[in-house]
Amino acid sequence: MEAYLDNSATTRCTEAVREVVVRTMMEDYGNPSSKHMKGVEAERYLREARETIAKTLKVHEKEIYFTSGATESNNWALIGAAMANQRAGKHLITTAVEHAAVLLPLHYLEEQGFRVTYLPVDERGHISLKDLEEALDDDTILVSMMYVNNEVGAIEPVAEAAKLIKKRNPKILFHVDGVQAYGKLPVYPKKLEIDMLSVSAHKIHGPKGIGFLYINDKVKIHPLLLGGGQQKGMRSGTDNVPGAAGMAQAAKEAYEHLEEHTAHLLKLKATMMEGLAKLPSVVIHSEEGSKSAPHIVSAAFPGVRSEVLLHALEERGIYVSAGSACSSNKKLPVSAVLKELHLRQELLESTLRFSFSAYTTEEEITYCLATLNELLPVLRRYARH
Ligand code: PLP
Repeated sequence: MEAYLDNSATTRCTEAVREVVVRTMMEDYGNPSSKHMKGVEAERYLREARETIAKTLKVHEKEIYFTSGATESNNWALIGAAMANQRAGKHLITTAVEHAAVLLPLHYLEEQGFRVTYLPVDERGHISLKDLEEALDDDTILVSMMYVNNEVGAIEPVAEAAKLIKKRNPKILFHVDGVQAYGKLPVYPKKLEIDMLSVSAHKIHGPKGIGFLYINDKVKIHPLLLGGGQQKGMRSGTDNVPGAAGMAQAAKEAYEHLEEHTAHLLKLKATMMEGLAKLPSVVIHSEEGSKSAPHIVSAAFPGVRSEVLLHALEERGIYVSAGSACSSNKKLPVSAVLKELHLRQELLESTLRFSFSAYTTEEEITYCLATLNELLPVLRRYARH
């Protein structure tokens, strides 16, 4: 038996995604910038992909820009917007638990003379709106906040944060890293007053190496990639037609079945949390309810190092993450995000993340729980000697 419980790291493509990706690579493979029929055909795939994605967000298709994934989207949103708006101010705000694809561009901006405030979080991973309100000042030009934390599944108060930000100054830009939310929750940037939203396709059963950045038409932003002038000169580079078509197909499937998928994920999560709670000495970091994502359960297994447990599970065909798999920084023994939750060292070193997709089955969860039940006493005994 196999249980792939690492869907926040990446997901398997659906059959329909594979079909459209292969078709745009093998048959309709033109360059959308070419003037002949093959180009026009490829251009149609791009246009339709933009329309499909725009519809899922209830925004205009001209506000969708294809990128190579959320890392590029985040870099572009932060650096491009900071550079374009620096005359208005040099202060940026974010949370202490962002993905490296937000934190590192912000560190770069600090080196360029910007000032960044990192909002702390509570033990569940949530920021405090009061802290945000106090951090906003006359020099603030941009706030960047993740919608769902990729390691513990905390849902940040994006709607309330937007209200505070816009009340203080409607010109302050609000960027949201929506990677772990898009396709799992309804995300409507206009309603939520989100100016820029980053998304990656491979987290929603689309291909890797493609994503998008939603940019509200009114936002002033510089392009980062200069070249052939594709995408209205805002993001040069030959358009990734197979990627865009595959991502749109994945988005369509995710949003057509959103309620049904969410209900399924919540059931899986409940089974996982109940099962974990029955195991001796397990500390669950994630919570149930509206402040936590339906597809992520993070828990610590004191007495066993995460890596040891991860590999023991792997031997039984169960795939999970220690913290987050999105960072390839092998030198970091424990996750920087978990440290921000102020967990004691023993918990930091023994945490695993289990993440589900709409295609995860109850059997996979039950198999994982039964295997944990079997492995934990053995590994704990071994660790003590
Ligand atoms: N932001 C979050 C919250 C993520 O979970 C990830 C995952 O890898 C990223 C950004 C980066 O996405 P990608 O590696 O597809 O560029």
